[in-house]
Amino acid sequence: LEFIKQAPKIELHAHLNGCVRKETLQQFALEKNLQLDFSCFDRKDNDGQFHVFGIISQTIKTLPDFRRITREMLEDFKHQNVIYLEIRTTPKECENGCFTMEEYVNTILEVIKDHNQQKDQTMQVRLLLSIDRGRSQEHAQKVMNLILKMHKEQPYIVGLDLSGNPEKNSFQDFIKYFQQCKSLNIKTTLHAAVIDGQKVIDETLEMIEFQPDRVGHFNFFNKQLHDRIIEKKIPIELCPTSNFFTKGLKDMSEHHFKDFFYQGHLVSLSTDDTGVFDTDSTQEHQKIIRAFNLNKEQFKQLLINSSKMVFDAQLKEYLQQNINQYFETQQG
Ligand code: IMP
Repeated sequence: LEFIKQAPKIELHAHLNGCVRKETLQQFALEKNLQLDFSCFDRKDNDGQFHVFGIISQTIKTLPDFRRITREMLEDFKHQNVIYLEIRTTPKECENGCFTMEEYVNTILEVIKDHNQQKDQTMQVRLLLSIDRGRSQEHAQKVMNLILKMHKEQPYIVGLDLSGNPEKNSFQDFIKYFQQCKSLNIKTTLHAAVIDGQKVIDETLEMIEFQPDRVGHFNFFNKQLHDRIIEKKIPIELCPTSNFFTKGLKDMSEHHFKDFFYQGHLVSLSTDDTGVFDTDSTQEHQKIIRAFNLNKEQFKQLLINSSKMVFDAQLKEYLQQNINQYFETQQG
């Protein structure tokens, strides 16, 4: 475990509010006098996750709250020796106008900037904005306006994500925003094939044909989707623990890691929501390494492949040097 913990890892799929520490959430609830039932944290199925996100959005409310959870998230990932972290978040605004979406994003960016610019900083952090597919077009348009306005002056904002409840709306409702990003060279990633069903299969095919820079999860697929995503070379952000619960697996050795990694298709391992799934980057790697008996060379390949998937392309070489160096000095 120590070898995995010390290894320089890459995290590409982590939702800010889903990565809140449970103790911090409980403290916020106490401070705000909220009587909330935290027992849903013990249930990791889709319904349990849904309740947890309800509690999270009722409890984390103010800009100082968001600043704190961002700071703690960076601490937690750094503690696991993550050397490159992409955070994603759905821009929020306060209902009675106390802060705007731009202020929300700026608050998070300030923490990221302070962190990245520290001397000898070993972990670089980047930010993606998420469109929540469960919300309105108006909300999506606001997120889009924000990314258009901010991405040029704010190099730490590197992409747009589509997430949220997969039962709500469809990719076609939001495709125009992603097309616009593509035309402006802003990277895109889509939560794809998160749940099962024919509707999702059709939508996932449309997503693949759109050719985002990456997709997240890709839990449910048939042969056509499997072959097509490989043909189109679209890398997949896998989140083992999250996927395990969403798919209702009995053993991690059933995870679809096996359907892609051995074919040389790019995949990376991420946490999704460290708070919701009570996990971290080390555990996500450990679970897959154990389930598939990966040797050191395969573990290294997995990390190198992850480094090829990062949205800040300038850092690829630096990341690969770090990974190579770690495995060279740890031979035997
Ligand atoms: P936020 O965007 O920082 O508020 O992070 C929490 C949000 O991320 C949730 O409300 C969901 O919209 C989204 N999210 C977190 N995990 C998942 C997932 O596994 N699938 C889809 N959306 C997710």
